Amino acid sequence: MWKQLEPKAVFRWFAWVSRFPHGSGHTEQLAEACLAFARERKLACRRDAIGNVVICKPGRGSSQSAAPLILQAHLDMVLAAAPESGRDLLAEGPRLQTDGEWVWAEGTTLGADDGIGVAVCLALLDDPTLEHPPLEIVLTVDEETGMKGALALDCAGLQGRRMINLDAEQEGIIYVGCAGGNKVSCVLPVRRIFTSGRGWELRISGLRGGHSGMDIHRGRASAARLMGRTLFRLSRETALYAAEAELGQADNAIAAEGTVRFLLPEQADPTAEVQKLEACFRSEYAAADPELRQVLEPWRPDGPVLDRDSTNRLITLLVCGVQGVEEMSQAVPGLPQTSGNLGLLRVTDREIRGEFCIRSTFDSQKIMLNERLACLAAALGGRAAYSEGCPAWEYRAESPLRVCCEKAYEALYEKKPISRMIHAGAECGVFAAAIPELDCISIGPEIRGAHTPAERMRVESVRRTWIWLLEILRRL
Ligand SMILES: [Zn+2]
Repeated sequence: MWKQLEPKAVFRWFAWVSRFPHGSGHTEQLAEACLAFARERKLACRRDAIGNVVICKPGRGSSQSAAPLILQAHLDMVLAAAPESGRDLLAEGPRLQTDGEWVWAEGTTLGADDGIGVAVCLALLDDPTLEHPPLEIVLTVDEETGMKGALALDCAGLQGRRMINLDAEQEGIIYVGCAGGNKVSCVLPVRRIFTSGRGWELRISGLRGGHSGMDIHRGRASAARLMGRTLFRLSRETALYAAEAELGQADNAIAAEGTVRFLLPEQADPTAEVQKLEACFRSEYAAADPELRQVLEPWRPDGPVLDRDSTNRLITLLVCGVQGVEEMSQAVPGLPQTSGNLGLLRVTDREIRGEFCIRSTFDSQKIMLNERLACLAAALGGRAAYSEGCPAWEYRAESPLRVCCEKAYEALYEKKPISRMIHAGAECGVFAAAIPELDCISIGPEIRGAHTPAERMRVESVRRTWIWLLEILRRL
């Protein structure tokens, strides 16, 4: 079945890429193999200090002497395995499966994000009969862990002033802009004391969570916000001492679960209040998070707890920290413009640490939310530290490359592709910031469930995207 998938060349190279383990931070083998591939074909190639690979191929046919084109994909993939799969993607590549309609991997992420982009580049480099302008193939490392490869790439070595990024996941859509983003760590001091009382554990679970950019406008609950609301209500009635709290998995995921343990006076019983709030939350989020649960159980305290001031700092951070869409775009209907997400919270003996992910189409509004968190942290006696993050990729009204891609798609498929901006980071933003005159778009075949073991890619969509790309290359 595998060998029959069309286009054969693209799927052959996709299978080749999948033979190598290539998680973020572990792209060495695949990068070296790509260099060997280029040398065998006598193509100029190089690898920079961080591991990015650049391969050049002269133009051919009618567009032989056209301006060069950068084609860009990322070498690394997210490693995620279903717990029962027993597979270790650090040791081996994903095991590909297909039913002729979809491609997926046995129990793990497929790595079509962005192995298919790499495969398309290799198929183009490998075929001496295709017509195209001079190509600069740029394969970056560690896109999935903060775009470190793209940020470190020396773009002065690139000739191209137009670029097609091959890391999009919906066929027939041309991505033309994205939000910039960064992380903010809010660190607040704590003091622990010994005090008596009755221990309780509150667990919030069953939320859908999701990507802090792509899903931020879907009305889903954040465990951070729910925890803050419940703790505030309980602490208003009586003296509450928080002991431990943990929330979420990563700054860029909406917190889907959280647990907090705390002490209340012996005679206090928070059960009714917690149930009342759970009922409120369940009706507020009935559509987006039908499985929402807030469960309270007795807990046996086993050490010092946060004093009242420290407890209030924790509650204030949860209640007042930025969460969700701050502003919607006025230029693009339905597009979140600026958002924040408290995705990760930990409390240690020394500090409360909350990790936020901030995104905006405008770098200036990203700074606005950074500053708001700085104000909040300072008011609570702590501090906020910002990561540099990635720049926004602003929409260009004037884009000959986009027009060429639209015309090619229309000629082939008799409908106009949709231009879209996304509320998430993309490597295009890094390139657009480094090369101010860059005309840049992003396309790719249909991929579902990226970054999860359910990741799969539609075969027919790979074929259509490949033919579209060849048509674009002919027309450039
Ligand atoms: Zn990707």
